[in-house]
Amino acid sequence: MSQYWSAVVHGLTPYVPGEQPKLANLVKLNTNEHPYGPSPRAIAAIRAEASDALRLYPDPRADRLKAAIAARFGVEPREVFAGNGSDEVLAHAFMALLKHERPLRFPDISYSFYPVYCGLYGIAFETVPLDDNFAIRPADYLPHGPAAAGGIIFPNPNAPTGRLMPLADIERIVAGNPQCVVIIDEAYVDFGGESAIPLVRHYPNLLVVQTLSKSRSLAGLRVGFAVGHPDLIEALDRVKDSFNSYPLDRLAIAGGVAAIEDEEHFQRTRTAVIATRDHLSADLTSLGFDVLPSAANFVFARHPRRDAGELAAELRRRAIIVRHFRQPRIEQFLRITVGTDEQCTALVEALRDILQ
Ligand code: PMP
Repeated sequence: MSQYWSAVVHGLTPYVPGEQPKLANLVKLNTNEHPYGPSPRAIAAIRAEASDALRLYPDPRADRLKAAIAARFGVEPREVFAGNGSDEVLAHAFMALLKHERPLRFPDISYSFYPVYCGLYGIAFETVPLDDNFAIRPADYLPHGPAAAGGIIFPNPNAPTGRLMPLADIERIVAGNPQCVVIIDEAYVDFGGESAIPLVRHYPNLLVVQTLSKSRSLAGLRVGFAVGHPDLIEALDRVKDSFNSYPLDRLAIAGGVAAIEDEEHFQRTRTAVIATRDHLSADLTSLGFDVLPSAANFVFARHPRRDAGELAAELRRRAIIVRHFRQPRIEQFLRITVGTDEQCTALVEALRDILQ
């Protein structure tokens, strides 16, 4: 801590390095990475780009990537914004679209970066409790007279619960809040949800954010994107240009395009993860866990008689890492990333042993 730091920095905590440990032979089921590698076509494209071309600055507009995303989702390139991971896309969206007089609204149990961005950018917010089944209640996001929100954001499926909101409810929320921007963070949507991107045409206040980190297994490349009305995209571009005119490097653009275009690899690997998730949920249930229905590449589960912190510590001793949140209401849950079948079997066997 330094006298030279601004007040904002004093309130910030560094990212927990324990979540990315540098140990070999770990069964790493804590940060929702995809267990299978990215598209071989993406790797080949990155290799090809790793050449003399790196001498040159990348395209500041990442037009090839935007065109590939637009073609994949049936929208116009001017409805697409691309950034360095969806975390950066979200950061720009908070600054560009969510800083208003009235508070931003999001669920109390949700992606932990939302309150962090609010702190960084001085955005007022109010959190809304999940219901008794850890679901987001759509009615909580419909305006109640003068208490209309200054913006709404939540992940769908939600993180870390994995619970999905049907598209019809998303549309009710977007249609019911024409006075503000509604951001749907679809980091995990490809593992069982239905994207809200087709709604963008009908609602100028909807921004849908996705990432290549999860279902396209490119967490290490840092590519995220948003789809929305061109006015929203222009606001994001203005903020981006003020921070860094080149958010995406040449390797990210080349790899991102190839990954978006490799539909076969995408479908095959995401289907494999969904099948493993459903097995894992059943196995955990048979061990006595309560498992929330998941539409993501992780499951959220608690054991009625065993402390989640102790279970996580016991697993760690066996070189298996899962995520445990010390947050009210969910401190007895473990969030377990869906790994390969072998990794999930190792996890289930370790838990069986611990629970004996
Ligand atoms: N949104 C949610 C809900 C997430 O869980 C994550 C991953 N931690 C992100 C966004 C950011 O992912 P990335 O920056 O890798 O695209």
